[in-house]
Amino acid sequence: MNIVLFGPPGAGKGTQAKELTKHYNIPHISTGDILRANVREGTNLGIKAKEYMDKGELVPDEVLIGIIRDRLQLSDCKDGYMLDGYPRTLPQAEALKEILENINKPLEVVLNIDVPDKELIDRLSGRRTCSCGESYHLMFNPPLDEGTCGACGGKLYQRDDDREDVVRQRLEIYAAKTMPLIDYYNNRGILVNIDGTGSVEDVFKQIRDVLDPYRK
Ligand code: AMP
Repeated sequence: MNIVLFGPPGAGKGTQAKELTKHYNIPHISTGDILRANVREGTNLGIKAKEYMDKGELVPDEVLIGIIRDRLQLSDCKDGYMLDGYPRTLPQAEALKEILENINKPLEVVLNIDVPDKELIDRLSGRRTCSCGESYHLMFNPPLDEGTCGACGGKLYQRDDDREDVVRQRLEIYAAKTMPLIDYYNNRGILVNIDGTGSVEDVFKQIRDVLDPYRK
């Protein structure tokens, strides 16, 4: 099953991907998670990427294309993959097409998770994250113990790019650079719209209804 999870920051791609990857047993490939891991480890890539990420800007295409090219070659992608946060620009989408042709794993479905901007701003500015990958929301999904991750006991933090001013910048960049990909994939007949405003379970069910027929 070869999938892209598409949608603005805060649409719930990461939350859904975590469930979907278990359900369908395919790897969740989040370019944001890969970049954040590099920032934490202080790699050259992380040092370079952080400058862009903290401002809510996109990391240059050639960096991301290299990351995805390497990641998709790994053996865990043999039965499929779930991309989250990639592609975000037309050159990234074109590069992906070529990479996938070379490894003979063409995209089957692009799920576009749709949520209005006002709700995205509320969701992102209340989000609290743990380095283990869990995330919480101060109002909608608060941790049992304030400031502490219920899964691993780690300390929760607010991502620098979840501050409201940076969130607005991310949404503007999404509208300008990433939204055109909706037409790009729609024209190829593989885009499916998902209403992302319901509960996590509602959205999960909508996605399963779309993906189940692609199960091998
Ligand atoms: P995310 O966790 O997907 O919201 O990504 C967090 C940040 O990482 C973004 O705001 C960008 O700065 C950077 N990033 C992640 N994926 C990409 C991508 N495909 N292209 C460019 N920058 C990216």
